[in-house]
Amino acid sequence: MALLVEKYGGTSVGSVERIQAVAQNVAASARQGHRMIVVVSAMSGETNRLLELAGSMHPNPPARETDVLVSTGEQVTIALLSMALDAIGVPARSYTGGQIRILTDEIHGKARIKKIDAARVMQDLENGRVVVVAGFQGVDGENNITTLGRGGSDTTAVAMAASLNADECRIYTDVDGVYTTDPRIVPEARRLARITFEEMLELAGAGAKVLQIRSVEFAGKYNVPLRVLSSFEPGPGTLITYEDDTMEQPMISGVALNRDEAKVTVRDVPDRPGIAYAVLGPISDAHIIVDMIVQNIGLDGMTDFTFTVGSSDLERCLQLLEPVAKELGATEVIGDADLAKISLVGVGMRSHAGIATEMFRALADKGINIQMISTSEIKISVTVDLEYAELAVRTLHKTFGLE
Ligand code: ASP
Ligand code: MG
Repeated sequence: MALLVEKYGGTSVGSVERIQAVAQNVAASARQGHRMIVVVSAMSGETNRLLELAGSMHPNPPARETDVLVSTGEQVTIALLSMALDAIGVPARSYTGGQIRILTDEIHGKARIKKIDAARVMQDLENGRVVVVAGFQGVDGENNITTLGRGGSDTTAVAMAASLNADECRIYTDVDGVYTTDPRIVPEARRLARITFEEMLELAGAGAKVLQIRSVEFAGKYNVPLRVLSSFEPGPGTLITYEDDTMEQPMISGVALNRDEAKVTVRDVPDRPGIAYAVLGPISDAHIIVDMIVQNIGLDGMTDFTFTVGSSDLERCLQLLEPVAKELGATEVIGDADLAKISLVGVGMRSHAGIATEMFRALADKGINIQMISTSEIKISVTVDLEYAELAVRTLHKTFGLE
């Protein structure tokens, strides 16, 4: 008998019939004697609909009230799923994030979970009930409703699994696992049977949208075995675990594409201590995540400073940098959203030399210009013109024999 956390995303609970199918799936595990926690997202499209409503009420909706509004999406699905379970004879109880004290910090729209009170949930499990929890939401220290960022239900599920020491956390979604790359771009892409937390983290950070990145961080930190599988077709999915020395690691596990990357360049700033801090300080104070950073070598005491952020943060960055640029005497601040980041990920890179060279040669052969490069121990990322993004992905998938 295992303790399982199962999470169903928006498309998996997108209609009455889908919710009934989820109930059948949950009931099957419950009838085998497993203790079940189920975390659900809002019905597909609902979070977007609520955000649009907020936008039609206010040009810049207050973050606190936005969270009150969007958290209702998940409240609908927990109640409906609990009813569906009850209708087929499986006792269930639903809880909002606040009710089971999913305690977060106070950053509305991007809150981080600090603590979960497992006692209440445990009691229900002991009493043979399925516990249905609203994903994506929590409360801060003052009981304000917070949300965890888009895709945040994944993180709720992993956090529940970590705090209850669950045997496995299963993320049911509309794809049947993690692929070597996006099959819509490369039809020959393969499902991976397993992948390490580290690789998954790099893939998610590089734009693979299977799981919310924070959920992977959480799972790695607390060593929660995480499985991504389809709620539409049976299958083993992809297991995300720790690196296993007995396994031969493939050199490259996947190629990720992120189209939502934008570049900011601050031109002609003085080449002296404190510049990186002056430019990036206000960005980080605004909780905007910076990805690649490049500072060119100085010429005549002047330099350029370039970094990338998510495209949705571009406008905000340009606004924030306007006074900074003035103060530093920079000639201009340029934003460019027609950019894509392509990343090659694999733990096998640690023990293979020359992968970067091979990557650059393959791109050069296709006439694709590389703008920026960054590397980690298990990843090489480049940014290219958006127009060449898909060609670059196809080229690399083939070059590294991933099909
Ligand atoms: N409903 C939220 C969203 O659409 C959270 C989630 O689905 O994980 O982002
Ligand atoms: Mg999702």
